[in-house]
Amino acid sequence: MNTYIDIGINLTNKQFYNEQDEVINRALDNGVDYMILTGTSVRGSKESADIAQDYPDILFSTAGIHPHDAKSFNDQSIGELRNLLKQDHVVSVGECGLDFDRDFSPRPLQEKCYCAQLELAIQINKPLFLHERSAFKRFTEITEDYLSQLPEAVVHCFTGTLEEAKSYLDKGFYLGFTGAISDEKRFKHLEEVIRYVPLERMMIETDAPFMLPKNISARSQNRRNEPAFLPYVAQTVAQIKKISLTDVAEETTAVARKFFRI
Ligand SMILES: [Zn+2]
Repeated sequence: MNTYIDIGINLTNKQFYNEQDEVINRALDNGVDYMILTGTSVRGSKESADIAQDYPDILFSTAGIHPHDAKSFNDQSIGELRNLLKQDHVVSVGECGLDFDRDFSPRPLQEKCYCAQLELAIQINKPLFLHERSAFKRFTEITEDYLSQLPEAVVHCFTGTLEEAKSYLDKGFYLGFTGAISDEKRFKHLEEVIRYVPLERMMIETDAPFMLPKNISARSQNRRNEPAFLPYVAQTVAQIKKISLTDVAEETTAVARKFFRI
């Protein structure tokens, strides 16, 4: 069986309430041997780190503040994230970045919160898990100010244009792809992006419970997404790139393990 690593799961989301063990076990049954839980707030990052601690060498977590949660950013936030990141299984800073699509937090606050986390990543030298939605121009301006000092970075759940993908690759960043790549109605353009991005710069993720892959059989269509469905994302990559599923599994797993140092 192929082995996969899901680099982005929102396991503390209420949709997984009281079902976390089952969700993890189903993922393991489907070859998803490593999972990285996404921290989106100080509280969520603590919860994710606690869950990950119970599954050594299987679960890992990130610690960060999502742009939607930038309104919760305060003088203590960076210190608390730094403390979490002292643990070996907390492998990455983020998710952090800018989201001008929904603007759940005021933009100046999003920028302040993002810059503080870039500085934290530089200080502690752990890789960055980045989020950018409808904010490419400003995100790029800010990120470029820090670029020469930044550790490695992945722009997760990439749904942008080919030009934007090229710009991130030029910066040395990796791109994370979700089930969005099988959504031919909303994200048809991602096909050319997948064709362009080399496997050695690509990681795959479910972003569960969101972004349910469209290539799942009709019976499961009404369900929330979960890490067990990661092979569907890999299948779409294999189909578009006209390569074998095993190649996608092996390469994306190797890339992600090296990136997150696990
Ligand atoms: Zn995100």
